[in-house]
Amino acid sequence: MFEPNRDFACKKLINFINNNLSEYSKLRNFDFGPDQRRNISCLSPYITHGVLSEIEVMSLSLKKHSFVKIEKFIQEVLWRVYWKGWLELRSSVWSDYIINLKIIREEYEDDPKYLEAIEGKTNIECFDQWVKELKTYNYLHNHTRMWFASIWIFTLDLPWQLGAEFFLKYLYDGDAASNTLGWRWVAGIQTQGKHYLASEWNIKKFTNNRFQNIKLNENVPPKVSEKTYPIIKKDFVNPVIENDKTLVIFENNLSFEIADLKKYKFNKIVLINNPNKFRQIKLSDKVIKFKTDLLNDQLERIRTLSIDCEILTIDKLKDIKDDYYILYPSIGENLDYILSELSDYKFLYRELDQFSWSFCNKGFFNFKGYIPKIITKFI
Ligand SMILES: Cc1cc2nc3c(=O)[nH]c(=O)nc-3n(C[C@H](O)[C@H](O)[C@H](O)COP(=O)(O)OP(=O)(O)OC[C@H]3O[C@@H](n4cnc5c(N)ncnc54)[C@H](O)[C@@H]3O)c2cc1C
Repeated sequence: MFEPNRDFACKKLINFINNNLSEYSKLRNFDFGPDQRRNISCLSPYITHGVLSEIEVMSLSLKKHSFVKIEKFIQEVLWRVYWKGWLELRSSVWSDYIINLKIIREEYEDDPKYLEAIEGKTNIECFDQWVKELKTYNYLHNHTRMWFASIWIFTLDLPWQLGAEFFLKYLYDGDAASNTLGWRWVAGIQTQGKHYLASEWNIKKFTNNRFQNIKLNENVPPKVSEKTYPIIKKDFVNPVIENDKTLVIFENNLSFEIADLKKYKFNKIVLINNPNKFRQIKLSDKVIKFKTDLLNDQLERIRTLSIDCEILTIDKLKDIKDDYYILYPSIGENLDYILSELSDYKFLYRELDQFSWSFCNKGFFNFKGYIPKIITKFI
């Protein structure tokens, strides 16, 4: 389903725009099963890694369809930009998640209910099927992610933190912001007091009756968290960018050839590989291989631009002798590594993030109001 290269991603995007985007808002909530995914784009593994940029996805889509017809799709593409910006302004949501995860992991390491859940042996047929699907295809439909998280939290009564870790381990599109905030939202601690409860009728309807007799806890209160996260204002300002320096790129920005920064002259580009040894959350072999293949694909494409380029493991960052800039990796494991191991670094931010993140101080409803501004500026 997901070949690890930009060529494949571009073809997938064009095919979706030409054949399926017009029906997206009507059909997007249906999960017809892993071999029938035409109603949604399945582009997230590429967008997450920056193999496709949000701007190019929106811009090509708007070349073929009017904004009014595909507004829902544009909103979804910008949801991930919003979640990222939201987390940037409240970074301790991520650091607290990692701290709590370590404690909870030890508590649950031999818990039979947890082990049954991650092995897909809960006797809740749909859930067990989704565990298999996640491990086989490294992708789940958005609605299914919501049902999955809801069953995990409210029927299996397991901590959301472990569920979020399980997703990150297997999803090709695993992303600190969308995943952590998605799980918090289902639990009812993202929008305090408002949780997402999966129900039998909803699963039956939107899986086209693929699942029946689903016994769930359909009447449970939201989880409660005492902790609130006030905004810590940040300016995402770029330094003056000088020519002939090195640019360091992480796994979230793998299409330098279409990046805003392409207009500057870099002497060298270093792509950073982050293996499990340096990660708090260990990824499955397939996810690590997917990332490695995408890095290699980007390496080849940069070399065709006649720019010196190599891939380095994250621990070699401190050995880079030349002056370098880092294309900002966003909150997550790569940034954690930089903050704990390096003392002197200069981040460069993407223009889309610089602009859009200034609208992430409130809820998505408020952010939505700025979408026309974002479109006008970038497309
Ligand atoms: C519990 C939970 C965990 C999630 N974890 C992740 C994750 O780790 N990484 C991730 O990229 N998305 C995550 N999502 C969001 C969403 O499920 C996926 O982005 C979407 O299913 C990807 O499929 P698609 O490309 O076919 O999406 P489409 O419906 O075709 O949407 C197009 C693009 O819009 C963006 N998008 C769509 N829905 C959302 C959303 N709800 N939130 C943020 N961006 C969205 C994605 O970049 C997606 O590729 C999670 C959602 C939930 C409820």
